[in-house]
Amino acid sequence: MQSYDSGAAPLGDSIQKTLTDLEVTIEANRCLNCYDAPCMRACPTHIDVASFIGKIATGNLKGSARVIMDANPMGASCARVCPTEELCEGACVYKKDDSPIRIGDLQRYSIDWLMRNDDVKLFEPGTSTGKRVAIVGGGPAGLSAARDLRRFGHAVTIFDARDELNGLNTFGIVPFRLSLDVARWEAREVLKLGVDVRAGVRVGVDVAMDALVAEFDAVVIACGMGGVPKLGIPGEDLPGVWDALDFIERAKLGREVGDLGDRVVVIGAGNTAVDALTCAKRLGAERVTMFYRRGEEQMTAYEFEYEFAKQEGIEFRFYCAPLRVLGSTHVTGVEFVRTTIPPDSIKPAPVHVPGSEFLEPATAVISAIGQSRLTQTFDALGIAMDDGVVRVNDELQTSRPGVFAAGDCIFEKGMREAMVVEAAEQGKTAASSVDAYLRSGAHV
Ligand SMILES: Cc1cc2nc3c(=O)[nH]c(=O)nc-3n(C[C@H](O)[C@H](O)[C@H](O)COP(=O)(O)OP(=O)(O)OC[C@H]3O[C@@H](n4cnc5c(N)ncnc54)[C@H](O)[C@@H]3O)c2cc1C
Ligand code: SF4
Repeated sequence: MQSYDSGAAPLGDSIQKTLTDLEVTIEANRCLNCYDAPCMRACPTHIDVASFIGKIATGNLKGSARVIMDANPMGASCARVCPTEELCEGACVYKKDDSPIRIGDLQRYSIDWLMRNDDVKLFEPGTSTGKRVAIVGGGPAGLSAARDLRRFGHAVTIFDARDELNGLNTFGIVPFRLSLDVARWEAREVLKLGVDVRAGVRVGVDVAMDALVAEFDAVVIACGMGGVPKLGIPGEDLPGVWDALDFIERAKLGREVGDLGDRVVVIGAGNTAVDALTCAKRLGAERVTMFYRRGEEQMTAYEFEYEFAKQEGIEFRFYCAPLRVLGSTHVTGVEFVRTTIPPDSIKPAPVHVPGSEFLEPATAVISAIGQSRLTQTFDALGIAMDDGVVRVNDELQTSRPGVFAAGDCIFEKGMREAMVVEAAEQGKTAASSVDAYLRSGAHV
C-alpha cells in the first residue's frame, strides 16, 4: 500500500496514528448526528461532519471523501494539521466527557482511501464561461480558489514564485505532521481540473500586476506572508543563526543543514517555533531550548503542539528576551535579559528587568518570531493594506476593482496563528466573489 505519510529521513515518520478498521467502526458509530451539528459550525470550511462520518459507517468511502473535499479542497492536509481540539472536536458534544469523536482521524481515514484510489474522480470542471482568472500564489488559499473557480467554469492560471505548489503545506509544515507526498497529492487534485501553472514567477517582480489585470478578467492575491523578521539585535547575521522557515524547509526537503551542535536555542513561541524545535531535536541536537519573552499562558503555539514538544524533550524558558548573539566566526551563545509583564498591562508587553542579563551557550540559534508582511509586494501590486495586511471588504475584494485576496495575506495579527483551514475557506469565498463579479458584468 502506498504511504503518503512518511517523513523525510532523518526526521522520522508521521506522528499521527492511523486508526484500525475496528477503531474506525467504533468511532464512526459514536456520532449522534446532532441536529444543529456544532462540529460543522466550528469547522471554518463547514464540512458536514455527521454526513461524512455516517458514510464511513456504511462503508461509502467515496461519498465520505466527496463530502469532505467538496467543502474543503485542503481536506487531506487539514486532517493532519487542523487544531481539531479548538475546532470541530472542541465543539463535539462528547467533549464534556473528554472523549470527542476523533473527527480529524476519521477525515484522514476517508481521504487516505481517496489518495490510494487515484482513478476516483470527485469533481468536474464547470461549463466554460470564457473568463480567465489569475491567482497569485499557489498555497492552500490559491489552490482552494483555483479548485472552485474551475468548478464554476472559469479558466485559471496560478502564478507561483516557487517551483512547487501548496505553499507552506509543501515547504513549511514539518514532514512528520504533513508529508511532502500529501502536500503534492493535494495540489495535483486541483490541477487535475485543468489549471495552467506558471511556476517560478514572482508577480510584482517578474510580471507586473498591471499586465495581469490587462490579461485576465479577475485576479486573486493569495501570496501568504514573508520570512521571519529580523530580531534586530547585534550578531544575528553570524553563521549558525537560522531563519526558522529556511531551517524547516531545508530539513523537510532533506537538504543539508550542517551540524547544529549540541545546544540549540530557538527564539519564539508560536507553531513555527515548535516545528523548528522538534526538527532540531529530531536532527540530533542534544539540548534544544525555547526562549520566549512572555509567559507560558501567552504562547501562541497550539496546546497539542506544546504538549508534543514537551514529549520530544524540549526545554522551555519563559520571560527571557534576547539582547545579542555572541560569537566571532560562528554563534557561541546568546545574551538574554529577564522580562516581566506589568500587572496592569492590557496587551501583555514585556519589560526588561534591569541587571538580570545572563549568557546562554549555543551552537545554533533559530529565530522563529513569526512571519513578516509582504508590504513591498503589495505596494508593487498597487493594493491598499493596513499595517501590512491586505485590505479587503466582506467579499474579499481589495482596493483594486476585480482584484480579490485570500489566506495569510489578509490574516490579522492576533494571539493565534494563521491556519490552513482558514486559508482554504477564504480561497472558496474569493472564488465565489470572483464568480459573482464576473457574472454580474461589473468588469468589461
Ligand atoms: C512552520 C509552520 C507551521 C504551521 N503549522 C500549521 C498547522 O499545524 N496547522 C495549520 O492549520 N496551519 C499551520 N501553519 C499555517 C499555514 O501553513 C498557513 O496558514 C497557510 O499555509 C496559508 O496559506 P496561504 O495560501 O495563504 O499562504 P502560503 O501557504 O504561504 O502560500 C503562499 C504562496 O504564494 C507564493 N507567493 C508568494 N509571493 C508571491 C509572488 N509575489 N508571486 C507569486 N507567488 C508568490 C508562495 O511561493 C506560496 O506558494 C503553519 C505555518 C508555518 C510557517
Ligand atoms: S477541516 Fe479541520 S476543523 Fe474542519 S472538520 Fe476537518 S479536521 Fe475538523
